[in-house]
Amino acid sequence: MALVVVGGVAAGMSAAARARRLDPQLPIVVLEKGPAVSYGACGLPYLLEGRVREPADLIGHTPEYFRKERKIDVRTGARVTAISHPRREVVLESGERIKYERLVIATGARCDTSTIAGAGQPHVFTLHTLDDAERLRAFLRDREPRRAVVIGAGYIGVEVADALAPQRPARHRAGARRRRSAARRCRVFRRRPQHARDARRRVALRREGGDD
Ligand SMILES: Cc1cc2nc3c(=O)[nH]c(=O)nc-3n(C[C@H](O)[C@H](O)[C@H](O)COP(=O)(O)OP(=O)(O)OC[C@H]3O[C@@H](n4cnc5c(N)ncnc54)[C@H](O)[C@@H]3O)c2cc1C
Repeated sequence: MALVVVGGVAAGMSAAARARRLDPQLPIVVLEKGPAVSYGACGLPYLLEGRVREPADLIGHTPEYFRKERKIDVRTGARVTAISHPRREVVLESGERIKYERLVIATGARCDTSTIAGAGQPHVFTLHTLDDAERLRAFLRDREPRRAVVIGAGYIGVEVADALAPQRPARHRAGARRRRSAARRCRVFRRRPQHARDARRRVALRREGGDD
């Protein structure tokens, strides 16, 4: 029996690794449309902030590792565009067809910008994948924006606000006062004020508790 997994981050790689533990002989293929698998999206705000220097630092294991050590055929740049369950096959953007007997779809969630007019503009970003973080990081580096607005005040929004705002206590940052004058200011728009207040308090508490 062959297993095909679509999506190569937390859910997809866990499924593939678990299947390998259950059956050492099972042919397993993981298809990931992005350039990397097995990365910690939780670290994306730290990448924006610069505390994590390189995207590679967020990657747990490479496709080579999975191929060599786990005998899992992990393919990146492999976007699945169609599934034909009667034929038990998936179709890649390249036109390649891959047969399966069992299929796991682990393609994650999506940032919903459908109700926000103008969300497709080049200076508007969503943050979900490593690619998203890279695009936003390049924009911050090249354009040096002075203000940012974060829409969504859940954990991710607040963490991103925290990452963008240069608000470290002076003792942690050389020249903090000088830099503050050119600082990007960050505003969190919130739909649920109480939730946002709680979230801001968590950020504030985290700072008081030692920045991490
Ligand atoms: C900024 C940020 C911070 C976070 N912080 C935390 C935290 O602190 N703690 C915590 O528990 N969780 C955190 N999360 C959430 C956590 O990262 C997610 O719950 C987890 O990544 C979900 O894993 P997943 O495999 O289901 O989906 P995803 O991570 O979304 O992976 C899905 C993969 O499927 C691929 N894919 C999609 N469509 C196709 C296709 N057609 N063909 C091939 N591949 C496809 C995508 O490219 C993607 O790589 C955070 C998430 C973000 C974005």
